[in-house]
Amino acid sequence: MLDNRQLYEQAGLWESQKYQDAHYLRKVELINGLIPSDVSSILDVGCGNGAILENLSPQYWTVGGDRSWSAIKKSQQRLVQMSADSLPFKAHAFSMVMCHQIFEHLPDDILFSSAREMSRVAEQYVMVSVPYQERIEQERARCGKCSTTYNIWGHVRSFQSVNDVRNLFPDFDLRFHVHCGRENVYRSALALWFMQDLGGYWTTNAHAVCPGCGWAAQYVGGYPRRALATLAARIDQMIKKQSVFYWLICLFERKVLG
Ligand SMILES: [Zn+2]
Repeated sequence: MLDNRQLYEQAGLWESQKYQDAHYLRKVELINGLIPSDVSSILDVGCGNGAILENLSPQYWTVGGDRSWSAIKKSQQRLVQMSADSLPFKAHAFSMVMCHQIFEHLPDDILFSSAREMSRVAEQYVMVSVPYQERIEQERARCGKCSTTYNIWGHVRSFQSVNDVRNLFPDFDLRFHVHCGRENVYRSALALWFMQDLGGYWTTNAHAVCPGCGWAAQYVGGYPRRALATLAARIDQMIKKQSVFYWLICLFERKVLG
């Protein structure tokens, strides 16, 4: 697998309209409301263009960090270039360390070391949000060059339960969790197989980059196969399924020792 740096250095990714999306703005409101009253300083790990920090109450002293230079360079916020798995701050440097929509992008080793780093730098609280029970195979593209299939957002993992997040922070207690965002209904595995593998109906995205070879062009199936994909999608729509809210936000507080 290629390092995905190239994916997140695309300037267009950070000017996206998604930061104006109503669900996104409601989520930021919720994040604001969840911050405990004794928090004075906040570090946002993987802050992107600083969109969340920008919308926090001005009473906090905030710093954001992201590995992508093109994400942070135009922001008006106090941002530094850094990697989530090696935070350039002292232990307990911020009363709260938060991280939104980052963990689903990280391979195992980086995920575990990032959670450890957040635990080290947080004095009292950690707040994390991740997509909840996301079916990452639903929004898969197929590389036009090497045929690797991959999630178009660069998501490499899905959190199936609150414990999947809780287990990353053994020194902290979960204080509460909340779901928000768009309410999703995912396709069945069988329908996806018909649509993608047989129907050639893979998702495309202008910013997606193949993690296998770095190529951006994506495979798009032709007409006869696409008709099969459409049929499979129609049938799948008739099957009743459980819907899930897209985001899970967790607030953790450091355990009291002794
Ligand atoms: Zn490829």
